[in-house]
Amino acid sequence: MLAHLPTTETAANRIVRPGRLARALDLYEYQGKALFARYGIPVSEGRLARSPREARAAAEELGGPVVVKAQVLTGGRGKAGGIKLAQSAEEAEARAAEILGMDIRGHVVRKVWIEGASDIEREYYLSIAFDRSAKQPLFIFTTQGGVDIEEVAASMPDALVRLHVDPLEGYHPWHGRRLVYGAGVKEPSEQKQIAAIAEKLYAAFTGCEAMLTEINPLIVTTSGEVRALDSKFTVDDNALFRHPDLAELRDLDAADPLEALAREKGVTYVKLDGEIGVLGNGAGLTMATVDVVTFAGGRPADFCDLGGGGDAQGVVDALEVITRDPQVRSIFFNIFGGITRCDEVARGILQALERMRIALPIVVRLDGTNAEEGRRLLEEASASNLYAEATMLEGARRSVELASVT
Ligand code: GDP
Ligand code: MN
Repeated sequence: MLAHLPTTETAANRIVRPGRLARALDLYEYQGKALFARYGIPVSEGRLARSPREARAAAEELGGPVVVKAQVLTGGRGKAGGIKLAQSAEEAEARAAEILGMDIRGHVVRKVWIEGASDIEREYYLSIAFDRSAKQPLFIFTTQGGVDIEEVAASMPDALVRLHVDPLEGYHPWHGRRLVYGAGVKEPSEQKQIAAIAEKLYAAFTGCEAMLTEINPLIVTTSGEVRALDSKFTVDDNALFRHPDLAELRDLDAADPLEALAREKGVTYVKLDGEIGVLGNGAGLTMATVDVVTFAGGRPADFCDLGGGGDAQGVVDALEVITRDPQVRSIFFNIFGGITRCDEVARGILQALERMRIALPIVVRLDGTNAEEGRRLLEEASASNLYAEATMLEGARRSVELASVT
């Protein structure tokens, strides 16, 4: 069972840790391969193309037969028809025209990767995933590559070699030997190449603070060379501040457009599927707000954490993102003043409402430091769509009621 392996994250299963949202940054195959190359893992030479014409030029530059590969953030592209061989540059152009614009399980292909075609003798599988339960990176290696690893795990679990690396000790050559002998690789040159790749993959995994680095297939060519033919590379979002070059790889087109806007503005926002726009200060309180809105019979439209600040610009940015969602029918601000003072947040909200016109009802619950002062400011402003409530439950009920009225 590979139940502990990280799977593709969805908005619903993102994990909330105290104070911050944990997310993963999935890289495209071509980006992962560029990182592999940086760490010395052999890959085929290739070019990125956004049009059939660019694909043709790329194939001409590379010379010889090429493979045209859809670049989407989902696996199984081969089965879906997103990977095709082309004998000539003309053929590469034609194949790219077929693949570009294709929808692979909800992912529209906007880019193709053109690389020199490989002559494949065998397909292996090598990955490192962060094993949360063991709190250690976990190598998985098998000579049964090229297919879905979950299938191998189910049908022939003994074919998988699983090996943890103690992060304090790091990688040692015996890890590589254990992997290749364990999987029954007999050929000495192959053993050597695979062990070397395992060491480099570990360096890439730790160097980029990855959560997953996967090579499927890791091929042996007809001339005996071992090479990464595919890449799946997931970086820990929480470590990105240490890797500005990796953070730049994030594809804003592929993300939810609202989440992309939020990221641009530095707003912590996760799109949900309901009608009540939820804002809180602090991830814990915001999660509780999502729960209370649900308890009150409403459906949250988002999770939006204002963090510690309640300054006008932060509120404007958050409101801009939330109101861009056409599903939102009412907005619920849930603020607990600790270090953040409620009167400051109230001023922020009022300034935000001066800067942008919002017709939707806005319910504000202020509690904690200077709550009374904050509520007084809101009441004095006498905006017709502002409703101040004293408790979280009352606030949630009011916002649900207002959402069904409007
Ligand atoms: P995935 O289907 O999304 O995992 O995409 P992969 O990059 O793993 O490619 C799927 C399959 O296409 C591989 O397992 C290979 O069998 C085949 N393939 C990819 N590149 C080449 C190539 O250069 N030459 C040949 N002969 N087959 C390739
Ligand atoms: Mn693959």
